[in-house]
Amino acid sequence: MLGQMMHRPLSIIEILRFSAETHPKGEIVSVRTEGDIHRYTYPDAYKRVGQLAHALKKLGIKAGDRVATLAWNGYRHFELYYAIAGVGAVCHTINPRLSAEQMIYITQHAQDCIMCVDLTFVPLIEALADKFPADMRFILMTDRAHMPESPIEFLCYEELVANEPTDFDWVELPEDTAAGLCYTSGTTGNPKGALYSHRSTVLHALMVVVTLAKMLNEGARVLPVVPLFHVNAWGLPYSAPLTGSSLIFPGAALDGASLFELMAREKVTSAWGVPTVWLGLQGEIAKRGQNPEGFSSVIVGGSAAPRSMIESFEKCGIDVCHAWGMTEMSPIGTSGLLSSHHLETLSHDAQIDLKSCQGRRAFGVDLKIVDEAGKPLPHDGEAIGELYVRGNTIVSGYFENEEASQAAMDAEGWFGTGDVASIDKEGFLLIQDRAKDLIKSGGEWISSIDLENIVMGHPDVANCAVIAVPHPKWDERPLLVIVPNGDKRVSKEEVDALLLKEVAKWQLPDAIEFIDALPMTATGKVSKLTLRQRFKDYKLPS
Ligand code: AMP
Repeated sequence: MLGQMMHRPLSIIEILRFSAETHPKGEIVSVRTEGDIHRYTYPDAYKRVGQLAHALKKLGIKAGDRVATLAWNGYRHFELYYAIAGVGAVCHTINPRLSAEQMIYITQHAQDCIMCVDLTFVPLIEALADKFPADMRFILMTDRAHMPESPIEFLCYEELVANEPTDFDWVELPEDTAAGLCYTSGTTGNPKGALYSHRSTVLHALMVVVTLAKMLNEGARVLPVVPLFHVNAWGLPYSAPLTGSSLIFPGAALDGASLFELMAREKVTSAWGVPTVWLGLQGEIAKRGQNPEGFSSVIVGGSAAPRSMIESFEKCGIDVCHAWGMTEMSPIGTSGLLSSHHLETLSHDAQIDLKSCQGRRAFGVDLKIVDEAGKPLPHDGEAIGELYVRGNTIVSGYFENEEASQAAMDAEGWFGTGDVASIDKEGFLLIQDRAKDLIKSGGEWISSIDLENIVMGHPDVANCAVIAVPHPKWDERPLLVIVPNGDKRVSKEEVDALLLKEVAKWQLPDAIEFIDALPMTATGKVSKLTLRQRFKDYKLPS
């Protein structure tokens, strides 16, 4: 027997319509590329999204067309998210930190017809425009006064929306209509596209709101440092309006001092981003000897948050939530908020240990770990295997890439994350490594994340990474690459002594190299691929 309930298609624009009605005081504050601050409310945003939808229609945008964005976190980018999806087209966010080659590949692969660009990227467009799809048009996200002289015929965003009506007759779309497209940065091979639907996006927004209710509620002021151009800023453009939380968009300046000032001025309550960004903010907090006023929680994800980072935030009274996910998962998969029984019964140290794990699954996300034969392993905190995921917010394949789609899915339809992990009895996930970053020494595995986590706790280490280098006897051995914090160079003996408190002797790195800065990927993670290439001929001490 079937239930007898209405079936209304889930639709992205409904989030903003709801927010404009229910949370009229919710704000969007943006640091603009023009150099000033812009602020307005959700009802204002909803009206502008209506105007933009009219403008997109006039430009000939049809259902299913891909409209690209190349922009920082700001209100116009937010408007594009909603208006593009609202007219049934697909918002393809492009990461400006990709190489020119990758950018050309993805615009061609996606067949983008329009690209909406922040002022910062005018030189980039001028250099690459003739390599993008032939009929592509460009909209510059600014007003007439800031339009530059350029050989490209940019359309002006503000002129396009200016005289359009604020009411738009949103057509009802089937809920599985595509709405967003984001390519994984693909450290090897070509980037692959995750194509989100209205349904997956709305379900993800609801899931995030439920999972992270502590940070997302009416009156909260949320800073997405995680970019709108990658992984949908962890879904914040949807989950924040749903709850009436205000959004504070930081624009292009993401250094510790700029973030600190913005957070203090705008009374940010929670900030979301990758560990690298928080290193800068923590440096600024230490320098000033105080937190930005009102700042109470931080969400860290995208790569493993070192224990020392979690501890030092908590010492300042800032609650840390460590989250894990992927572009292919919309992206949130787990969250590290502890339950009240953990807070009541565990020592401070044990709480930090638990927070250093990647947390427990969000509702709607199933996790399994499997051995090399694909056999499920127990969730006992001991067994380690490749992590597979399943759920309504997870890709069922890659956009127009049959080969990659088949390689990613198992026979039962689970998606292989490429991460290696254990899961304990309570469901806490512990990511050991990316499968390709694990170090295979004499048939045993060494987790690079484990070693990095411990070494990051040393005061003379600003940042570090552990990579595999070839070894004639053991296949691979770990090399520790350190960015020193100041002039002092920590000795191998000191590092070994620190590591030996937690790992076995055979897991110690064979050598240490010091460098000025770690190479980063387009998504702000340490590029182990670049490091491995750089040290591929490295001779370990015998
Ligand atoms: P992306 O699709 O660029 O967001 O990258 C997803 C990958 O980032 C995951 O498969 C993990 O390898 C890594 N990752 C994300 N969050 C975490 C985390 N909290 N700890 C460790 N690795 C993470």
